[in-house]
Amino acid sequence: MNEWFLIGFLVLLPVAVFSGYRLGKKQGSTPKTQNSGLSSNYIKGLNYLLNEQPDKAVDTFIDLLQVDTDTVDTHMALGHLFRKRGEVDRAIRLHQNIIARPQLSKRNHNQALYELAVDYQAVGMYDRATNLFNKLLAEPRHKKDSLHQLLNIYQATRDWEQAANTAEQLEMVMGEQQSRAIAHYYCELATEKQNKKDIKGALNSIKKAIAANPASVRTSLLQGDLYFEDGNYKAAIKAYSRLLEQDIAFLPEALDNIKAAFLNRNDQKGYHKFLQASLEKGAGVSVLIELSRLVQKDEGDRAAAETIGVYLKEKPSLKGLHQLISLHIEHAQESAKPSLQLLDGIVEKLVERKPRYVCHNCGFNGRIIHWQCPSCKEWSSVKPIQGIEGE
Ligand SMILES: [Zn+2]
Repeated sequence: MNEWFLIGFLVLLPVAVFSGYRLGKKQGSTPKTQNSGLSSNYIKGLNYLLNEQPDKAVDTFIDLLQVDTDTVDTHMALGHLFRKRGEVDRAIRLHQNIIARPQLSKRNHNQALYELAVDYQAVGMYDRATNLFNKLLAEPRHKKDSLHQLLNIYQATRDWEQAANTAEQLEMVMGEQQSRAIAHYYCELATEKQNKKDIKGALNSIKKAIAANPASVRTSLLQGDLYFEDGNYKAAIKAYSRLLEQDIAFLPEALDNIKAAFLNRNDQKGYHKFLQASLEKGAGVSVLIELSRLVQKDEGDRAAAETIGVYLKEKPSLKGLHQLISLHIEHAQESAKPSLQLLDGIVEKLVERKPRYVCHNCGFNGRIIHWQCPSCKEWSSVKPIQGIEGE
């Protein structure tokens, strides 16, 4: 006998008896006759239970329980319970049963419609769910929740245009702060257009994203990538440079393109200046390593190693240590080289295995950036790891 049955048994028993009694009164029959009718169904359910067929027992008890003003709350509670337990087909049947009763109040009817829409959503029948939620937008009592559910559906189906519209409605009509998410929806749209080589369309979507949330690092990275792809290196550098003010921790994401953009403009000096300015603003070890490579080219290995050594004293990091050891191997005594190479290999493996990003909301971590955390579904909560194991 499962846990569910015990719950159902306890919920249904008193209500079933009550309903039978009321039915008896309505039809004018004696309580004795009616009770025996109820008992036969009740005993049927009980038999299913004793024969370890709780599913059939539950269905029998539900059929026994009429839907009316007195029992509608019990039906709603049961529907909720079924859905929570993953028995959505039963929840759907219950809610459809409530909707089919014309004598119920509009409030009960709409509540059942809402619950039915949530059932459909739970089993991925998004078209039906969307239709019902859209109908319920006209009901002030259900407007806010329906908008939220629609937003969940549009995110799940990656319908970013509709997601943006719905979030804008939540912001305008309900006064909810949605700007961070809206910017991401437009960024998703921009990425789709970028994949179809529609750079102009993608840049237009980015403009909408920036208008929604000017502080969004994703808009700077994406706009920089789009200009870079389009060969507009000056505009790309300008877009990426916004990261210095927004959140410098994301700068390593764009470092390869920033370098290529400066080199395409034959502006090695500009690149050097950019790296220095970034370090002064608190950029991490990736920027330092890039700078040390420039120093190495101009002034040699020792000067480069010194640049890294000074920085590592302030901000120790595995990545920086790996770079420092690599620079020293070349100039080490022959007898020390094998040990240094071994150490270098170990540090390199450590760096490779460490996650690069962590969600500040739920702790999810991984090696690729997610703009929406795959675990807690929060937008903008995944950030590059800082400190000794990261930047
Ligand atoms: Zn998370």
